[in-house]
Amino acid sequence: PCGGAIPEELVSELKLSHEIIEREFDHLDLHIKNELIHRKGKGVVIWRDKFDHFITKKAIQKGAKVIDRSPCINVKPMDGGYKVLTPKDKLECRYLIAADGCNSTVLSSLGWPRYNSEDVALTVQYEMVMAPDLINDKFGEKIIHLFFGKDISKRGYGWIFPKTDIISVGWGCQLSLIKNTTKEFNYFIKSIKNLIKDAKKIKKVAHLVPTTIRNTLYSQNLFAIGDAAGFVDPLSGKGIAYSIISSEIAASIIKKYFNELNHPLIEKAYNKKLDRMFLSVLRKKKSIQPDVYSSDDSIIRFLNLWKNNRSSVIAKQLWEIN
Ligand SMILES: Cc1cc2nc3c(=O)[nH]c(=O)nc-3n(C[C@H](O)[C@H](O)[C@H](O)COP(=O)(O)OP(=O)(O)OC[C@H]3O[C@@H](n4cnc5c(N)ncnc54)[C@H](O)[C@@H]3O)c2cc1C
Repeated sequence: PCGGAIPEELVSELKLSHEIIEREFDHLDLHIKNELIHRKGKGVVIWRDKFDHFITKKAIQKGAKVIDRSPCINVKPMDGGYKVLTPKDKLECRYLIAADGCNSTVLSSLGWPRYNSEDVALTVQYEMVMAPDLINDKFGEKIIHLFFGKDISKRGYGWIFPKTDIISVGWGCQLSLIKNTTKEFNYFIKSIKNLIKDAKKIKKVAHLVPTTIRNTLYSQNLFAIGDAAGFVDPLSGKGIAYSIISSEIAASIIKKYFNELNHPLIEKAYNKKLDRMFLSVLRKKKSIQPDVYSSDDSIIRFLNLWKNNRSSVIAKQLWEIN
């Protein structure tokens, strides 16, 4: 379950093939109260199953062995590595990468804490069928829509991401601030009822997404990446690019230190590379997130800044001085 919006840069970096792309976008429409802010921003919308399959195939081409239908049910440390238990197998490894998302079984098996309710957002999403012509009429051919406001979500927002003939209609809010999920999600749906009245709901899913980075990201040959590590933008909830970048960083470090078990420099190298690529920016975003979502006026101030600036620049420079 994912909105599936990814930035243009990732499309070219991954050489994403055309059949994976459901729709391109070149603008974001930011709705709050009766205001509409039109922001430039290029990217594409994808279905996660197709996208994940595309990436998995790439990994196989590079020599990865995929063991399908074999979930990890437990992990035990052993001399010189880990033993990963699945319903059918016991797999032994020297290094382990926890890439199993927000509720990581790998990390909880090894005693790493689960996220608490302040550190995750709960999302609810409908998939709704709609004729492509109607999608273009209602939402614009190349526009994704975000809906803000304290009435819609105390810390989060709603969205409509049009795909080819389906629209993903979702809502997310920091879990600890939700009083009644159904009521709050339905309030959002009601607020956009005119936009979606010709769409037919075919699926409803709920999912958690972390909004806080873990304190520990590496320990004893074990790397946390992606949602398992909390690598998600706390302002927008996007995390696909960070999960890919963190996997590449972890893999490059393992390659370098493969024959030197638990080398003292691994943790430092991992943190340093993450920091340089995106982590320091995510931390800065996290530090302004409560203030950004503190009131409608504050959200509007953020959206007006976001119209002409990257959110990283807002977090690092503009939020404090404006
Ligand atoms: C509703 C919603 C909308 C979102 N929209 C966007 C968006 O538009 N753009 C964006 O960039 N980000 C978005 N995100 C965030 C994004 O989905 C995540 O940040 C991203 O998927 C993280 O990737 P990941 O590989 O770390 O984790 P996941 O995508 O959660 O993948 C974890 C994988 O591990 C597997 N797994 C889990 N447990 C086990 C186990 N025990 N054994 C084996 N395998 C296991 C799962 O099946 C899954 O394949 C959204 C999130 C949600 C919830």
